[in-house]
Amino acid sequence: MSSVIVHYQEIALKGKNRPWFMGRLVRNLRRALADLDVRAVRPLMGRIEVVLGPNATREAVGERIRRTFGVATFSYAARTGLDLEALAAAILGDLEGRACGSFRVSARRADKRFPLTSPQVEREVGGRIKAARGWKVDLEHAELVVHVELLSDEAFYSFGKERGPGGLPTGTAGKVVCLLSGGIDSPVAAYRLMKRGCTVTFVHFHSYPILSRASQEKARELAALLTTWQQRSRLHVVAFGEIQQQVVLAVPGPMRVVVYRRLMLRIAERIARAAGAQALVTGEVVGQVASQTLENLAVIGRVASLPLFRPLIGMDKEEITAEAIRIGTYPISIVPDQDCCTLFTPRNPQTRARLPQIEAAETALPIEALVEGAVREAAVEDFQFPLLGSKVVNGRSTWPQ
Ligand code: ATP
Ligand code: MG
Repeated sequence: MSSVIVHYQEIALKGKNRPWFMGRLVRNLRRALADLDVRAVRPLMGRIEVVLGPNATREAVGERIRRTFGVATFSYAARTGLDLEALAAAILGDLEGRACGSFRVSARRADKRFPLTSPQVEREVGGRIKAARGWKVDLEHAELVVHVELLSDEAFYSFGKERGPGGLPTGTAGKVVCLLSGGIDSPVAAYRLMKRGCTVTFVHFHSYPILSRASQEKARELAALLTTWQQRSRLHVVAFGEIQQQVVLAVPGPMRVVVYRRLMLRIAERIARAAGAQALVTGEVVGQVASQTLENLAVIGRVASLPLFRPLIGMDKEEITAEAIRIGTYPISIVPDQDCCTLFTPRNPQTRARLPQIEAAETALPIEALVEGAVREAAVEDFQFPLLGSKVVNGRSTWPQ
């Protein structure tokens, strides 16, 4: 099997923009496979062919394709001429030595000029396999599905299909900035937007040296892991401890969490605008913690002028946790750390923030100077996958975002 045939679903619906979506998917697949022995990635009549070299392993190639959004399904495929005898002979050759309880053939014609219809091809090829091997045909629950794809002057066949990650290709929906804590929720929120084609830039706030470095390290690990789905990421690491000390002097304890959050959003928004991002993303959920009552969410959200997305807003912790486990962020998120939001806050923070009261409290703070200083001093780290590894570049990009 020297090819992988990639099928996409949602892109097929994109009408006039389809070539552009396809171009992005092809480009993303090329990048995802860049360090493997892959000869070509090419669009081919409604699917994409990845041409493998002899040193490309199935595991490595599959691992990358499973992390490329826009892929609906994929299969390892072999090429033959457009001739039923040759096709059936090649399939039988590849099936030699294989035991199988039941099978069926699923055919698709990309070029309708082929003289037989798909059901006819299925019957012809299936009949030859049955005759040669004596296997039972089962159209409903076949143990083995032999896929046949007939193009204009070549055919492909494959055994079984794997699911891709779905979604839309990275880079087709613009950029967003996600506030990434070291917790369980925000990485899942970022993943949701990535899956819809957004490029996500991460912003993490820490209170080192008042608190440990743990949250920063977690944010870095999470950013590196999430980068495996979008190939290139940027993480802004913002020192928040001194700002919090100023908040403590000016704002009564119960109001601090909301004020911290509003400052985080202001800083994230400044970073977002400079980066050309069009929205902010958080992992907030109604009622999950005291800072996430409807009242508090409203007062927090009021400070943002960019759209603020909370993709997990109606999810239970259990559901979010299941997704975190599935995408692999969970083990990193549960490493103990100290989140800066709990610094200098009472055990019972205000649950019904009122905007005028919060705004009045904020007048005691040099907001613009705090925001400007935090953005200026933020450390910027870039991540790439493949060629995994982060590089601290302190405000300089090593590649165009
Ligand atoms: P998470 O698991 O995402 O940390 P959480 O349940 O702990 O969520 P909060 O601590 O109230 O919830 O945070 C709500 C949201 O605010 C987070 O999902 C994240 O988007 C943002 N946030 C909180 N703390 C930080 C931080 N230190 N750096 C960046 N963003 C943060
Ligand atoms: Mg948190």
